[in-house]
Amino acid sequence: MQQPAIRPLWKNFINGRWVEGARGRRIALEDPATAEPLAEIARAEVEDADRAVESARKAFDSGSLRELKPESRLALLFRIADELENLTEEIAITECLDNGKGITAARAQAPASARYFRYYGGVADKLEGRTIPLGEGYVDYTLLEPHGVSAQIVPWNFPLQLAVRSVSCALATGNAVVVKSPVLCPLSICLLGEACERAGVPEGAVNILCGRGSDVGNALVAHPGVDHAVFTGSVPTGKAILRQAAERVIPVVMELGGKSAGVVYPDADLDAVVDDVMIGAFSNAGQICSILSRLIVHTEVHDDLLDRLTARTEALSVGPGWEDHDVTPLISRDQLDKVEGFCLRAEEAGAQRITGGRRVPDVSGHFFPPTLYADVKPAMEIAQEEIFGPVLSVMRFDTPEEAVTLANGTDFGLVAGIYTEDLSRAHWTAQRLVAGQVFVNEWFAGGVETPFGGTRRSGFGREKGQEALLNYVQTKNVAVRLHTP
Ligand code: NAD
Repeated sequence: MQQPAIRPLWKNFINGRWVEGARGRRIALEDPATAEPLAEIARAEVEDADRAVESARKAFDSGSLRELKPESRLALLFRIADELENLTEEIAITECLDNGKGITAARAQAPASARYFRYYGGVADKLEGRTIPLGEGYVDYTLLEPHGVSAQIVPWNFPLQLAVRSVSCALATGNAVVVKSPVLCPLSICLLGEACERAGVPEGAVNILCGRGSDVGNALVAHPGVDHAVFTGSVPTGKAILRQAAERVIPVVMELGGKSAGVVYPDADLDAVVDDVMIGAFSNAGQICSILSRLIVHTEVHDDLLDRLTARTEALSVGPGWEDHDVTPLISRDQLDKVEGFCLRAEEAGAQRITGGRRVPDVSGHFFPPTLYADVKPAMEIAQEEIFGPVLSVMRFDTPEEAVTLANGTDFGLVAGIYTEDLSRAHWTAQRLVAGQVFVNEWFAGGVETPFGGTRRSGFGREKGQEALLNYVQTKNVAVRLHTP
């Protein structure tokens, strides 16, 4: 495939209109596969955050979404899904160039995003409260009410899907939204704005700003007109947002990083494990919060598995997304430096480099090869810190207890995996792993229907599945004293 082109200029979406930033500034975007300029987007400022919150507030207070009949809200979300699907090819090309994703993965973004709107659209008319027995002379019931204006801060690794997973749930429950897109990769979220516009989302119910986290993101969470926040991103930024939210006493969903481990028992189907690890560890060039980052392998099969993994890892192709390579570029030069730095320090600490470990030389794009380390010890930085690149550490264990201790031995707790044919062993291990989600024999198993989120420093609150709805509503209890007629 030839390198395609995209629109040169993009804007922010406030109160149903596409607008420049308050100070007329732009953010220059880069194609991570070439490091060449790609497009420009209007830079949102703090003043734009004010305008966006004001418009969301007006939309919420007007009842244009909240008071829609539930079946009409369902229909609205289904129309957004349809419009996203109509934009599949433009979203694919945009995400491929702006983010670096392989074109096949990029083509999956719109259908996956549409699925969120259909899933949560489907529950918009099924959000039911309870009646609570209080005895003779009383009626008591609960109402599930939206929070109001939800500020949603999105990272760059899966911008469209991560925006959609929160926006769909927020709209289904009647909240108005201001999304802050990531400055490194904001464009597919603009196309979400277009889908909302075409679907007839009420003016101001969805606003999209591309601005810097330190000013616009910060201003949004601190804004007195915001009632609720969803943050997806790194632990340090999450902590800063929590401090802001504490000042305002607003609820926050925290979807943070991970350092997830897969445990390979000696009875596992090793061919299947190798196939799965290629996806679990190297998809999206490892830039996934729930990436498989540590493989904890039983001594009996360790050397055999490492040999097989090495052969398959070295056979993966590295190159631009539009040529649909197995491993596509990292998002930026900074990310490339960061990932390589982890590798250099791992080797200084005694980890054994099996393959990869240094940036691809003599290319202008931000390419890093899929990388394997063995002899990784639990205390090493490479075994503790989130790398966010295509780097897998392989460790060994002898007893199931030891495997669980190693897997749980970080400050994170996002996801974990188990490879075994033994059902009892799988459940025994799943019960002991500290993680919000455990995969057995397939990394990334699950979908929109399955609750996702972290424990420990990986965050709290859940996105996806019916659990997510609980984060977007608050319960109002109505207690009625009946008088004798
Ligand atoms: P980041 O924390 O640097 O930025 C995330 C977003 O926060 C960006 O939009 C940024 O502009 C904004 N931001 C920065 N400072 C802010 C502030 N003070 N106030 C408000 N907003 C601010 O993260 P990143 O580098 O964009 O993304 C990578 C991280 O995201 C990784 O740690 C990854 O694990 C995590 N992540 C988590 C999930 C999940 O669902 N748990 C999903 C994807 C990514």
